[in-house]
Amino acid sequence: MKVCVLYLFCFLVWSQLSAQCPIIPTPKEYTQIDLKIPLGNELSLDSNSIHSATWNYLKSNLKLQTGIDLVHNAENPFIELQFKYEFQSLNQNQPIPISNEYGISFNSDKRTIYFATEESKFHAINSLLQLIRQNGMIFYLQGCQLSDSPAFEWRGLHLDVSRHFFTVDEVKRYIDLMALYKFNTFHWHLTDDQGWRIEIKKYPKLTEIGAFRDRTMIGHYSDQPRTFDKTTYGGFYRQDQIREVVQYARDRFIKVVPEIELPGHSRAALAAYPELSCTGDQNEVPGTWGVFDDIYCSKSETIEFMKNVLEEVVTLFPSEYIHIGGDEAPKTRWKKCANCQQVMTENNLHTAHELQSYFIGQMDQFLTSKGKKLIGWDEILEGGLSPNAAVMSWRGVEGGIAAAKQKHEVVMTPTTYCYFDYYQSGHPSEPIAIGGFLPLEKVYQFNPLPEELSELDEKYILGGQANLWTEYIASMNQLEYMTYPRALALAQAVWCKEKPSFDSFLTDFITYQEEYLDRYGVNYARSIHQPKLEITRAKNGINVHFKGIEENYHFMVCTKEIRGFSMSGEQAMGVNDTLFFEHCLPGTQSKTIRTSVLDEAGRQPFTNEFIVHSILGAEIEMITQPHPKYDHNGSLNLVDGIAGTLPWKGSQWLGFDTSYVEFIVDLGTIRTIQELKLGFLDQNGSWIYLPESVSVQISTESKWRSKKMYSKDVDSSNFSISISKKGRYVRVMIHAMDIIPEGQDGGGFAPWTFIDEIQLK
Ligand SMILES: [Zn+2]
Repeated sequence: MKVCVLYLFCFLVWSQLSAQCPIIPTPKEYTQIDLKIPLGNELSLDSNSIHSATWNYLKSNLKLQTGIDLVHNAENPFIELQFKYEFQSLNQNQPIPISNEYGISFNSDKRTIYFATEESKFHAINSLLQLIRQNGMIFYLQGCQLSDSPAFEWRGLHLDVSRHFFTVDEVKRYIDLMALYKFNTFHWHLTDDQGWRIEIKKYPKLTEIGAFRDRTMIGHYSDQPRTFDKTTYGGFYRQDQIREVVQYARDRFIKVVPEIELPGHSRAALAAYPELSCTGDQNEVPGTWGVFDDIYCSKSETIEFMKNVLEEVVTLFPSEYIHIGGDEAPKTRWKKCANCQQVMTENNLHTAHELQSYFIGQMDQFLTSKGKKLIGWDEILEGGLSPNAAVMSWRGVEGGIAAAKQKHEVVMTPTTYCYFDYYQSGHPSEPIAIGGFLPLEKVYQFNPLPEELSELDEKYILGGQANLWTEYIASMNQLEYMTYPRALALAQAVWCKEKPSFDSFLTDFITYQEEYLDRYGVNYARSIHQPKLEITRAKNGINVHFKGIEENYHFMVCTKEIRGFSMSGEQAMGVNDTLFFEHCLPGTQSKTIRTSVLDEAGRQPFTNEFIVHSILGAEIEMITQPHPKYDHNGSLNLVDGIAGTLPWKGSQWLGFDTSYVEFIVDLGTIRTIQELKLGFLDQNGSWIYLPESVSVQISTESKWRSKKMYSKDVDSSNFSISISKKGRYVRVMIHAMDIIPEGQDGGGFAPWTFIDEIQLK
């Protein structure tokens, strides 16, 4: 085994990039002027030219950030606000399109903000706040010339207040931070299995009973045995509090879209009114996460109940859209329920999916009669889309594409880019999360417009949104950690028509935005400061590269001896230095190398263990492609020396949602193979199951006619099979069950198979 350190060219170090723009989301056009306009203790505007809510917003933010007072001056304001009609329409004979254009011109003679609407004025005010910079004790305005407008009309952040409850003040804080980055839609997930959070006058038990649970899971859903915190947990918003939040958001040009989940995720409501279920059984408000079989029965009493609930909801929320959920509703109970069967017969419905469509159709009719639009998760496409329904595409973009092609409105929020409850780095210090891996860079790649859509259908894509499910987010502190800075990358995706490169965004973020978020005391994640591990294939092994934004890391390489680790070298490494690990010789024992990267103070080592085995970096052809969400680093993931670890943090495993997985390893040369080892993930709570069996074929050429097959059942997550054969190509075939049996986690759905690190002896 050979460990050598290669010094490569520093082709990209962020500190060499110059920062471009202090405003995020990046304005459409921005030219920095080399001018710092000092600010005194006061900043003046003509208060007649600005809506009082916007005035108060600017006044309080300015004071909070800088201590500067906003004062009224009609004759000679420091910054002039000017309505600019040209922004609205070039042709006065045409109906005026509502454009949210604004412009800023801060030069040595004059400081002017141009606007087309009250809303665009508010956007300009938020840009103004970001243009205030600090030099020692002095605050100044950055000189610049810009024009700007949003790319999408739906720029959303979601918040689940059911799994964990957030107070009115916390929700307001969440909305405040949204406003800074020009989000305009707050999707408030108010009801779910674990808590009903909105007061409904007609049904007081919804909050008396449904808003509280008597226990809450500790740790991850997949942990065994499960443990619980047995304190009563809950809370809800009175209707006057809801109105207060809606007005607060409205003052910030943010519309609040409420979500009332149906027909699934309804255990809290059914705990209060068990007669609305299929069985009528009295169950508790659950303290565990997941998907439950008990959902609303589709009988007319439930439909009536839902309409009565929505009747109160529509009076509280001026939003055009009302979200009715529609996701993850198992049909187990419906299939056995006489009432549900009767509804199917009476309405000539043939499948349970059609029954769900019928249920949602009733809600659609009702909401339409109230002048509202129904929006639901992409499952509402199953069994036929209701005439006026808009779709929120979360299981990928496919649902959104299908809906847009059917001329329905769509909001894109695919898990692949928009689920901020996923891990954002592989660092050991990351707090427990649901799983999955969504680093900042990945969020930045999000584009709400899929390439598959024609220009004609693109207009149905309203925009995009990130979702914050809170099973593992119990405090405001952690909510901010999970949301920021990823929300800034999302803001770019939904605001900018053309966004700068990720490196440029990162430079701007570190130069300007960290300080800005610090001023607001936001607990944003610092993950981007941690070195990032990048592994690439090399001849006879792999290159390991620690890419980071700091100038220097303290770096240690240790090799594992029989008794623990012994230091084999400690060296200061530059940002772009690379380690080369050569694979061990066939037939010899694999070895483990531990690498550690320490921060400047020598704390929090970023530690990785590499198994240096005989097919490290080998070429692999994936016959079955991993699911895009769990395709981190492609086939190299299987031979990168890093075994998949627990807790599952999303990035070290390849995940498949197919019942059969096949790949072929090319050893490059013919050799004797004695044993094959392969790791599987066993996390049934996340619907990840061990496969049933593995078959292996060995060949000297890449043809598989009449070759001997080695097969074995899988009974543990560390699978191994004995082989005695010479060959160059190793074909691995993994057979998983088609459907998870009823009664187990994810029962009735297809299981996931997660694999990592294949080794040969
Ligand atoms: Zn029923």
